[in-house]
Amino acid sequence: MKRYFARILLSVFIIACASGPVSAGDRKTVIAHRGASGYLPEHSMAAKAMAYAMGADYIEQDVVMTKDNRLVVLHDHYLDRVTNVAAAFPDRQRADGRFYVIDFTLNEIRQLEMTEGFKLVGGKPAAIFPQRFPIWKSSFQVHTFEAEVELIQGLNKTMGRTVGIYPEIKAPAFHRHEGKDISRAVLQTLKQYGYMTKNDPIYLQCFDPAELKRIADELFPEFNMAVKLVQLIAVSRWKETMVYLGDNAYPYDFDWMFQPGAMKKVAAYADGIGPWKSMLVGNESTRDHLAITDMVREAHEAGMVVHAYTFRLDAGRIPAYASSFEDMLDIFLNRVGVDGVFTDFPDRAVAFLRKTAPQ
Ligand code: CA
Repeated sequence: MKRYFARILLSVFIIACASGPVSAGDRKTVIAHRGASGYLPEHSMAAKAMAYAMGADYIEQDVVMTKDNRLVVLHDHYLDRVTNVAAAFPDRQRADGRFYVIDFTLNEIRQLEMTEGFKLVGGKPAAIFPQRFPIWKSSFQVHTFEAEVELIQGLNKTMGRTVGIYPEIKAPAFHRHEGKDISRAVLQTLKQYGYMTKNDPIYLQCFDPAELKRIADELFPEFNMAVKLVQLIAVSRWKETMVYLGDNAYPYDFDWMFQPGAMKKVAAYADGIGPWKSMLVGNESTRDHLAITDMVREAHEAGMVVHAYTFRLDAGRIPAYASSFEDMLDIFLNRVGVDGVFTDFPDRAVAFLRKTAPQ
């Protein structure tokens, strides 16, 4: 009898662990990066539904704010790479030539056609990923963060699964410099939709360490909530995170995050890190001699999960030390030991894990 109860207790413990905060060594996580963006325009509702159907564990939202304080799902805080804004509102660009989301109302943004990412080549739009969904085909629009959360929660109901959300607060320092507290708005929305604790199916990510600390130390207590936080790690010269001194903005210096002991400092406010692949495996690596950095080991020792970005199978996106997309997954998931991957091709990562996971 005693043994019977012990067994029940053990299984309860295992279930509790399985549904609790993800820790190193748990099942690997597939994060659909901007949805199934390898197949449909990034951040379109169609790409999100497809990622869901492909079996992703989490679906990513990049979140930016409009002029009228609404949250929309777009990778950039400007509109020109993925919409027809330049044709629809030709006189609304700033001095740098860009059309900023924050200068447009939600109603204006809803009038735009959204497409696969493009750049202007000789004045004409050319697809950034030529093998992907053709630009300016079919019909896609920018949607709100709320609408996407409702899509995923609705699918969780009809499909009987629990797929998580993985929102990224984009350029919080820029938003605050423009008078908008985007983090506060994101937390309000998360709370409204029931994402409140570290056991809920959400990771909240940001590149800006100062903002993550502010969320952990000030906003979480104020909102009486605390969801899992992920520190994204950039290379300083990408200018992914800016620091404002008056009206002048300077790139944040990420160098400290590559020093010994840095992961312990990050773990003081975050539950995980989102590093670039090249920060974990040096580009000088060969298949037999991988130059694996200490970052994953140090992050795990500090109790954090590691979700690396971005796994793509487009031409030129698989490092020379990997022989295929699946080989690249094998290297990162099984040899480097990351806990999850951000990928534009969630079907391929799900299939890889189903084939290779221990039964
Ligand atoms: Ca992102």
